[in-house]
Amino acid sequence: MTTEIIFYILVFIFGTIIGSFLNVLVLRYNTGVSATKGRSFCFSCGKKLGPLELFPVLSFILQRGKCRGCQSKISWQYPVVESITGLLFVGVFLKYSGLIGLYFDSWYILIYLVAMATLVCIAVYDIKHKIIPDGLVITLGLLGLFKIMADFFLMAGVPTEIKTHLIWYLAAGPMLAFPLFLIWLVSRGRWMGLGDPKLVLGIGWFLGPIMGLSAVILAFWTGAIYGVILMVLSKFSWHGLKINGQTEVPFAPFLILGFLLVFFFNIDVLNLGFLIQ
Ligand SMILES: [Zn+2]
Repeated sequence: MTTEIIFYILVFIFGTIIGSFLNVLVLRYNTGVSATKGRSFCFSCGKKLGPLELFPVLSFILQRGKCRGCQSKISWQYPVVESITGLLFVGVFLKYSGLIGLYFDSWYILIYLVAMATLVCIAVYDIKHKIIPDGLVITLGLLGLFKIMADFFLMAGVPTEIKTHLIWYLAAGPMLAFPLFLIWLVSRGRWMGLGDPKLVLGIGWFLGPIMGLSAVILAFWTGAIYGVILMVLSKFSWHGLKINGQTEVPFAPFLILGFLLVFFFNIDVLNLGFLIQ
């Protein structure tokens, strides 16, 4: 038991380290600066960060969110992205932990860890820039296809079942992406960007038709709830912050939230799971 707790703490720390790398990656994506070049530095005063200042989450708390060189505020994005990545990594290991102590299905874990990191990047990028880079959705799509391949090789069952499973999962991506593509087409990109159907392509390949649909529905629901909250808040000035009712809401974070809810908690909103067993 204690071994497991220590193991999951280590997984969390590993996740936060990957998360701090993702922060830098998203920040420098499409800026021409290599994400791996040199050590991280303060964007205000250019001070190079020491080993302690590079430690995820903890450094932010110890420095009270300020740079040691110039006292400028460090964005909340850093510890939040680091913690979320850590939690997602723990979640992936928990989901695939076998019954016998610390046994894990290594292929699935590897695919899902990279997928989680990609999803974190997509969410942060969409929130910051209101656009989803093609490179990230292509990565997710390829991982989804890898996952179907892993299913194919690891499912040593009846051949016909394997085939049905494979075809349904392959079809799920385009099937679920198509309605969102139509929304993009009809609204000429005003209601939805083209990045959203591309993202759903990968989500469909990962979750299959039933659970993928569940994830998309959850995305619309949570997105609608968020929209209503924004509309209500726009009537008030909240914490001195004026929220504009016209604010364009990025949809990718809700699609990702839907994906995570379905993946970690097996939420099947339409209860259609019986169709494919
Ligand atoms: Zn500084």
